[in-house]
Amino acid sequence: MSHPRWVPPNGGAQRNLQPPRVVMFRARIKSLLCIGCGECLAVCKQGVFRKTAEGKAEVSNGDRCKGCLDCFAVCRTRAIHILPGKSISRMR
Ligand code: SF4
Ligand code: SF4
Repeated sequence: MSHPRWVPPNGGAQRNLQPPRVVMFRARIKSLLCIGCGECLAVCKQGVFRKTAEGKAEVSNGDRCKGCLDCFAVCRTRAIHILPGKSISRMR
């Protein structure tokens, strides 16, 4: 099934307009709670997390989150929070 082509409000008069992007979920880590076990890095198929120099986990690609909650389930310290996505990004 093909999707209708997005047309900017001005009909495309400005060439640098990009279609809006919807981010459904955002991952956040409370660094103070993270013990650096690495479970979230191992379980996330989207590559949302990376390890810091201190050995803790941090979010590197939060916009890739699909909301599967696998990381939430394995994090024993409840350091991870999956939040609703931010609003539709502004047109650039
Ligand atoms: S699973 Fe939790 S405690 Fe372990 S590295 Fe990830 S955020 Fe830190
Ligand atoms: S909810 Fe799923 S996709 Fe999102 S960060 Fe956690 S494991 Fe990755």
